[in-house]
Amino acid sequence: MPIGDGLAEGPFDAAALEPLGLGATEHVAEWVEILPTGTETLGEVGFATHLVRRIPAARGERSDPYRWTSPHAILSTPPLRVQFLRLSDGWDCLAEGKLADGSRGCIVARRGGLTLVGFPFLAMLVRHHWMPPVDDGYYSVEGPCFNVAADLWLADLVASSAAAAGMRVVRASPWPAGMGSALTVRFDHDRAISEASLQDMLGLLDAHGAKASWGFLARLSDPATIAAVARRGHEIVLHSEAGTRSALRQELDHFASLGHDIRGVTAHGGIGSAGHLGQRLYEWASAEGLEHADILSRDAHLPHPALAATADGITELPVYLPPFHRSLDVGTKPEAHALPVLLDDIPRRLERGGLVTIMNHPDIHREELRTLLGSLDLPRVWRASHLDAVRRVRAATERSVLGDGQRA
Ligand SMILES: [Zn+2]
Repeated sequence: MPIGDGLAEGPFDAAALEPLGLGATEHVAEWVEILPTGTETLGEVGFATHLVRRIPAARGERSDPYRWTSPHAILSTPPLRVQFLRLSDGWDCLAEGKLADGSRGCIVARRGGLTLVGFPFLAMLVRHHWMPPVDDGYYSVEGPCFNVAADLWLADLVASSAAAAGMRVVRASPWPAGMGSALTVRFDHDRAISEASLQDMLGLLDAHGAKASWGFLARLSDPATIAAVARRGHEIVLHSEAGTRSALRQELDHFASLGHDIRGVTAHGGIGSAGHLGQRLYEWASAEGLEHADILSRDAHLPHPALAATADGITELPVYLPPFHRSLDVGTKPEAHALPVLLDDIPRRLERGGLVTIMNHPDIHREELRTLLGSLDLPRVWRASHLDAVRRVRAATERSVLGDGQRA
């Protein structure tokens, strides 16, 4: 098939490359290091593999992470096919790729309005937005996979490719006028807190005009505490331990019986829970009509629909996923916190214009949360719950699909 203007992703047939004056050498690799011309390396990227871990039923029980293997070919980690493009006159190389064996060649090239990418950059991006349907709790991504630097560079590449092809790209901010980014405080209420602690936390949020998405376990759902949180305008989220859809339904029913219409779910990872079950959780949440759930290990910058890989391909589910949370809590000990990292990282993330989530368990590292919120420059940051942020992004996406994105 002939290739027109715009951005096209390989691997390409020799027959398609030849009329363009290009050739290619084929490689299959675990990862490729992306070296854009004239700038720093974007690091090594590849298709992620996933680790899972059965959550222990009791303290002291040993359970080691292991690699998840897919029951279906479509969900398996695909081989990474890399083409080094041989250029002729008129082509510019925008990035080189380097493989584990030291070989190196052009992987992104442009001539006029046509930009070619000789490796599955967009496929890697899509896969990085997906969590597999695991049976044991999701643990982590393994190996060099998609990273923030590659993500930002790819966004610029798409924009510059569109400009080179004479296409106009409209980028609309989803946030209210005057707001450059958004911030949510996510609480995982895993242990009870005293009335004084609760009032202290509510006061801290009010002092910064911050909104929390406050996740409660069904088995630890003191009605007075939850009512006090909801009255101050925070979102009540289900912090789920469910390992089946009916168990999730029961947890939701419990909160409904307390008078709370739950719109979002996060997965508890502690003893006795099922952990995060990836796509399975998203399918149940979507079937229950929830509007948001959580994603682990992936920073997608803005909330996006959950992806489900099925025999028919990849589909979008109705439930949205805010980008992953930055946790203050590394452990429960007083010194086990990430304040120095977050003091550096949160302002940088806010600067990029997306939705940033600070996560904390409300019984620990409270002074660190106070310091962190106090350090941020918030006048142009929209402080909102996950539900508010997700609804804004969904509305902005629907507007731009309808074609009047210019209005925003
Ligand atoms: Zn938890």
